Amino acid sequence: MVYLTRKAEFSASHYYHNPQFSAEENQRVFGKCNNPNGHGHNYTLEITVKGQVDERSGFVVDLKELKEIMNREVIDLLDHRFLNKEVAEFKDLIPTTENLAISIWKRLQPRLRVAQLHRVRVYETEDLFVDYYGEA
Ligand SMILES: [Zn+2]
Repeated sequence: MVYLTRKAEFSASHYYHNPQFSAEENQRVFGKCNNPNGHGHNYTLEITVKGQVDERSGFVVDLKELKEIMNREVIDLLDHRFLNKEVAEFKDLIPTTENLAISIWKRLQPRLRVAQLHRVRVYETEDLFVDYYGEA
């Protein structure tokens, strides 16, 4: 089994707000991310797939196809978006980096046929990232 990772970057803005919290609770829990006008992040995404190396090509996955799927299913839909307002699943879901990683997994997993999706890693900053392995 071989693991292969492809990186991509996108920029998006978000704000964190739970309508079930009071204004004070929202401010306390989410801090500056509770600003209703949002703020932006430059995210780095790492997609790791796993599979057997194809004897004929020596590859574990068609890299061109992987890049196309990542662009079509994730980057084109998230890049330069206000996540809360422009991305359907975040209308009722707080667009934390945790939820972003799960949402990216759900977008990619059904589209990858050649190799198996292993991990979605989303960096919110250089020092902070989330890993999701598809586990409940
Ligand atoms: Zn933020």
